[in-house]
Amino acid sequence: MSENILVATAWPYTNNYLHLGHIAGCYLPADIFARYQRARGNKVIMVSGSDQHGTPVTIAAESEGVQPIDIVNKYRKNHLEVWERLGISYDLFTTTGTDNHIATVQDIFTKLYNKGLIYKKNMTLLYSEIDNRFLADRYVEGTCPDCNFERARGDQCDQCGKPMDALELINPISKLSGDTPIPKESEHFFLKLSALEQPLLDWIKKNDYWKPNVKNFSLKYLTEGLKDRAITRDIEWGIPIPLEGYETKRIYVWFEAVIGYLSASKEWAQIQNKPDEWQKFWFDKNARSYYFLGKDNIPFHTIIWPGILLGYENHNLPYDVPANEYMNLSGGKFSKSENRAVWTHEFLEKFSADALRYYIVSNMPENSDSDFTWEEFLRRNNDELVATLGNLIHRILTFTFRNFDSKIPEPKKIETSDEKLMSEIFITKEKVESNLDICKFRESMRNIMNLAQNTNRYLDSEAPWHSIKTDKERAGTTMWVSLYAISAIKTFLYPFMPNASLQLGSYLGISTDVNQPTWEVEKPKSGTTLETPFPLFKKLEIDIENPLADE
Ligand SMILES: [Zn+2]
Repeated sequence: MSENILVATAWPYTNNYLHLGHIAGCYLPADIFARYQRARGNKVIMVSGSDQHGTPVTIAAESEGVQPIDIVNKYRKNHLEVWERLGISYDLFTTTGTDNHIATVQDIFTKLYNKGLIYKKNMTLLYSEIDNRFLADRYVEGTCPDCNFERARGDQCDQCGKPMDALELINPISKLSGDTPIPKESEHFFLKLSALEQPLLDWIKKNDYWKPNVKNFSLKYLTEGLKDRAITRDIEWGIPIPLEGYETKRIYVWFEAVIGYLSASKEWAQIQNKPDEWQKFWFDKNARSYYFLGKDNIPFHTIIWPGILLGYENHNLPYDVPANEYMNLSGGKFSKSENRAVWTHEFLEKFSADALRYYIVSNMPENSDSDFTWEEFLRRNNDELVATLGNLIHRILTFTFRNFDSKIPEPKKIETSDEKLMSEIFITKEKVESNLDICKFRESMRNIMNLAQNTNRYLDSEAPWHSIKTDKERAGTTMWVSLYAISAIKTFLYPFMPNASLQLGSYLGISTDVNQPTWEVEKPKSGTTLETPFPLFKKLEIDIENPLADE
């Protein structure tokens, strides 16, 4: 039976380009999962959008002398291009700036406020008399009390990772004027997380299929005790508070961006002209929701967002949060400030989406950090994608094309070795499914590569290039069985490398509706005329010192 599955990805901030670590952390795994579920015949909505509020955007705008929305538009355009070129198949990639999102956030704010789960309280914040304003998190820098890093931000220390209360900073200064701010009282709204601690704990304990790191991290966070957190800031870029008298304050991004999963689902339904359709994903108790994100984002999706939902209405809580660890750049973190990044759009200028997708899935940081290196990218592409998979497919297609009048031959007597490979196809199918069902992407890609290796061995031992001279019927059967194996590979590859899968389908004379992918393994139809085959993947030469340079 068809199931309803919500695939949600973290909302990228619109103050920067996307580097390969972002793609490996959540966007590619989410896309593979969504494509797989659609191919299985499930009803999937994959939603996310641009996180356009928050101080990273306003600071970038002020330093470039433009409006925040100009920064948003610049990076949003880049993100949309990356999704297009990499084949990240969102059903909707919206923004947090829509009227629909603002209305959804304000409705949640109001309901939680009326239930006492949001309350007002005075808090002490840093205020600059020269700047004439409160300095929200990233507007203030100072020395970290833990590690003595001199440029720790008001919300976090970049050197030791300590989440910061700006008042803890030693020698704080305004990033705007260099002024030394003073502590001053300001009235804000707090989310009463302390009241949600027990229900969250009970819920997380039940989720025994979660990744151990996600579950343990969340439990540790909870058992240390949840503190109520301010959800508003003294800033004018963001979603207004739906109460009078707070016109100079806005709802803080960490509270409103996660609500985007719900508002985006509603917007998607409106676009479909079925305004209630989103409810199937949020109220149907058999519907499942998967949230893909990097490990730094875990508490927002296992504690804050489910906490908000528990306080709101009877919406489904996240079914799974298969967060990834980090993909680093040759041993160090990707970092814009240190100019250590491989930007996805630049990478895709030079290399194909499938090559990148294969590399990332093969090195996906599912349970521990992984490294991006150009040497490894080259090796994976040339030794695995081209030499194992691409050559196998090309060998089978060209041999059949040349020796059987460019038609799929008819299988005659099926031998034990043929049966063995055919049963391998279905064993592989079960393995790929059981791994993809639980978001084990690396392992499922390995299952497919193993089938390719076994098909290679089968072909070498059957040696149709000999039998074609003495027993054409036997050679024909061998090629039919081999074509069956690569037809299966075509199906299994679709979530991972959709372009290669569709191209292979067309070489095999299997027409695939791009909008209606299938998970069926089709037997080759004898007599079908094959298209002239070309290699699916390209061998690469890379100047390791200067990998993105023009030739
Ligand atoms: Zn520090």
